[in-house]
Amino acid sequence: MSWFKRIKEGITTATHEKKETPEGLWYKCPSCKSIIPSQEHEDNMWVCVKCGYHERIGSEEYFAMLFDNNEFIEINTDITSADPLQFVDTKKYNERLEDSQKKTGLKDAIRTASGKLNGFPITIACMDFKFIGGSMGSVMGEKISRAIDYSIEHKTPFMIISKSGGARMMEAAYSLMQMAKTSAKLTQLSAAGLPIFPS
Ligand SMILES: [Zn+2]
Repeated sequence: MSWFKRIKEGITTATHEKKETPEGLWYKCPSCKSIIPSQEHEDNMWVCVKCGYHERIGSEEYFAMLFDNNEFIEINTDITSADPLQFVDTKKYNERLEDSQKKTGLKDAIRTASGKLNGFPITIACMDFKFIGGSMGSVMGEKISRAIDYSIEHKTPFMIISKSGGARMMEAAYSLMQMAKTSAKLTQLSAAGLPIFPS
């Protein structure tokens, strides 16, 4: 005979209410399940110290890693898509954009910034996969182009960190046009005698 009897049947804790490892202090590797102090994980550049798993990181982490003392000026921060085709799939494109902006705190799938790397000036464009799969639409094309203009104007090398699922289908041909536009800009960068990384 048990001492206590459950009065109500079926008392369970919903998964979302279960205590998870507090975010911020610890990192749980999705590959080997090791629990690692977040600072140690960050110091190892977001690569699991136990199994070598590479965590997906975005522009915030890349900028922190690359720019000296995490000091940089972000350029062209306020460019957003105008939804030129009024595109609707399972959701309206402008709603999808709003949702992604709220969820990620980003305006679109790329950030561009200028600062110093090992004491040398550099302009860096870094994509964010978490924003609609890092897809390239008119905003990304425009921001890459303007960042290259900035490089040419300030005579800095240009670095691009590419993490993209490809062209953004919700902007159809407008997305495809960005390939030609950014390629043309890269030609100008080359003509100005400035290097691009990775070359
Ligand atoms: Zn691991």
